[in-house]
Amino acid sequence: MARSSAEVTEAQVRAALSQVIDPDQGKDVIGLGMISGIVVKDGNVGFAVEVDPKDGAKKEPLRKACAAAVDAIPGVLSVTAVLTAERAPAKAAPAAHNHGHDHGHNHGHSHAPAAGKASVGEKPAIPGIRAIIAVASGKGGVGKSTTAVNLALGLAVRGQKVGLLDADIYGPSVPRMMGISGKPNSADGKTMDPMRSWGIPTMSMGYLVPEDTPTIWRGPMVMSALEQMLRQVNWGKLDVLVVDMPPGTGDAQLTMAQRVPLAGAVIVSTPQDIALLDARKGLNMFRKVDVPVFGIVENMSYFVCPNCNHRSDIFAHGGAARTAHQLGCDFLGEIPLHMDIRETSDDGRPIVVSKPDSEHARAYLAIADKVAEKIEASLAANAGPKILVQ
Ligand code: ADP
Repeated sequence: MARSSAEVTEAQVRAALSQVIDPDQGKDVIGLGMISGIVVKDGNVGFAVEVDPKDGAKKEPLRKACAAAVDAIPGVLSVTAVLTAERAPAKAAPAAHNHGHDHGHNHGHSHAPAAGKASVGEKPAIPGIRAIIAVASGKGGVGKSTTAVNLALGLAVRGQKVGLLDADIYGPSVPRMMGISGKPNSADGKTMDPMRSWGIPTMSMGYLVPEDTPTIWRGPMVMSALEQMLRQVNWGKLDVLVVDMPPGTGDAQLTMAQRVPLAGAVIVSTPQDIALLDARKGLNMFRKVDVPVFGIVENMSYFVCPNCNHRSDIFAHGGAARTAHQLGCDFLGEIPLHMDIRETSDDGRPIVVSKPDSEHARAYLAIADKVAEKIEASLAANAGPKILVQ
């Protein structure tokens, strides 16, 4: 144990939390088993406070007390404490299971009816939401969020009722890209109202935790955050909910792909990324969990010089179309690398709505049209118990 005295340990976090008493039960939160998913990394601490779903946001003072107790440990740089109010498992359908990473979190889950393997088809649908689609990428920085935002708005421009869920809890971009700040309202302390911008409802972890807090969550916390953003938000009636996934193909992404009732997925990649096979990993991840891949979007596909209009295929463009073909999925379109796309997306004015007549907006709209067709095909193929439209 050659720890330096400044290094914060999980034991210290537990000790600090064991001093925090839940006033409703008169015992400490550790003893009550309310704390899960403790992560300690370079002085940054994250954990979840599990509360009864019916208490919901009433427990916010307890969450604050837990955060404050941990914050007081010498050497702690940041604390991310989230309230999780996981619903009791539905009487039907136990959620499809992650490979063993969710231990310690499944209070009360052990008596799943009809045990056995939970299949993908058992994911409970979300009342009022006709289809949920994921926008994913094999790695970060390829323009996944930019695509998700412009795709969502493109579908809205075409007359669909669209919602946008930012599940990229490691680096939420939707608040910035949609130009939204502030915190969501919760009238009943249990469900949150989405934040609206450019006519569509959105939800993001970026509204709930400060931007400069490093997010160091792992499995159970990620899933309960996502479940809450999915199921405890007043989305209203939607034709499509577009989910901006965290980049990559790790456990957290796989679990999401498995647990969210997805009608399909769009993979965003750059030409280099295609060459590095990252996009294939994304594709395989969805196939593994039986989610149809609608196709690949090639982003930063080529560069058009703003001065002379000369087009340069700086990254040997065209790889996505070829790869899509080889892998037996569709190529949904290509988006150039362009200053207008970067500026509008980083400035809260996505190009589809701020420059609707531009060539780039048209490219996104063409992708949205293809995705809309794919959604219909997927819903038709899965018609039956999976779809729940109120
Ligand atoms: P990811 O979600 O894959 O991490 P983002 O959508 O956040 O990627 O994009 C990363 C950066 O690249 C952002 O600053 C964004 O504005 C910019 N960007 C994305 N697509 C384009 C594009 N086609 N042309 C220019 N800049 C882009």
